[in-house]
Amino acid sequence: MTDFTQELEDRLCRYVSIDTQSDETSPSSPSTACQFDLLRLLVEELTAMGAADVRLTDYGAVLATIPATAPGAFPVMGWLAHVDTAPAYAASGVKPVVHRRYDGGEIRFADAPDLVLSPAQSPYLAQRVGDDIVTASGTTLLGADDKAGVAIIMTAARHLLANPSIPHGPIRIAFTPDEEVGRGVHPMLPADLAVDFAYTLDGAERGEIVYETFSADGAVVKVTGVSIHPGQAKGKLVNALNLAARIAETLPHDRLTPETTDGREGFIHLYAMSGTAAAAELKFILRDFEVDGLADQAALLRKVCSDIQKAEPRATIDCHIAPQYRNMRYWLEKDMTPVDLARAACRKVGLEPFSIPIRGGTDGSRLTEQGVPTPNIFTGMAMIHGPLEWVSLQDMAAAVQVCLNLAQMEVPGK
Ligand SMILES: [Zn+2]
Repeated sequence: MTDFTQELEDRLCRYVSIDTQSDETSPSSPSTACQFDLLRLLVEELTAMGAADVRLTDYGAVLATIPATAPGAFPVMGWLAHVDTAPAYAASGVKPVVHRRYDGGEIRFADAPDLVLSPAQSPYLAQRVGDDIVTASGTTLLGADDKAGVAIIMTAARHLLANPSIPHGPIRIAFTPDEEVGRGVHPMLPADLAVDFAYTLDGAERGEIVYETFSADGAVVKVTGVSIHPGQAKGKLVNALNLAARIAETLPHDRLTPETTDGREGFIHLYAMSGTAAAAELKFILRDFEVDGLADQAALLRKVCSDIQKAEPRATIDCHIAPQYRNMRYWLEKDMTPVDLARAACRKVGLEPFSIPIRGGTDGSRLTEQGVPTPNIFTGMAMIHGPLEWVSLQDMAAAVQVCLNLAQMEVPGK
């Protein structure tokens, strides 16, 4: 097997050095202009390696094709990764550091002497002894989420384009912006992709194939009180902040919250609350693996709001709940072909695939809902969105092999 670790190291280090942090508060697409710096580089590199149909869409996605090299029952398959990094942590001036042949002990950081990465913080690290581990230098995240995925796809693409004797089907590549702010799937993307199904390279531990995510709604509760000078307020003031606090207090605290649930349990999470005595706003996310559970949560939140509204008719309490994304399993369980192919591709590399339900969403959740079944494949990334983020080059190399195997898989009866 070809050793891809040097190419992956070069690509990962090159890509993470470019700041691509997205911004939830920006209305544009992509949300930050800096994402174009990496998107344009990827256009150049894809063009140089001989990819077809290379283009940068005006919504900030890079699209390209690796044409088929053989006839056969090959599906049109998509490979996706996102170029942006999380707004949650410092992401400019990333200095990647390669820790060769990790010895199982503590990893230290040049720019943060007190920071330590060890299997105590990240148990998966104990399984990667002997690997080459990439981290940042202590003051920023690394951005392996998801530049590990970008580097894996670019390496697999380069290898297929340089070796046309490998018989494979048509591959469509997409590098997308703004996944971290929930806007990675532009309305045009499913049609622009034009694939039978796709994979995001945005997963974690070696062998992980994810086809179950949360189902998700967002809720905004607006409370309008009656404002009046506090000196003359007796019997007249209706304090919106107190009503907002009552809504938050009335919701359960010993269950149905992120901090009291795990596994397959869902939650209602109050993540923002602001306002004045005159008007206040509460923002929630609702999460459950099943849409029935999500509907129960919505009913509970609505009941709490309406009970408090009834107790204080002078106020106005408006509860608006909107769908965000749905568990991709609802679509994939009707046709498990994409998942089965990914599992077979793992086994061909000698990896035993495993699937866990992800307590979050991926771009694949939205794509699947819009008719492009898109499970998520591992990249090796760990401790993401913070200064301890790390990835193993050998895990990334295993993911490249999985992609190469996928490209060569035919779908009988297609
Ligand atoms: Zn990601």
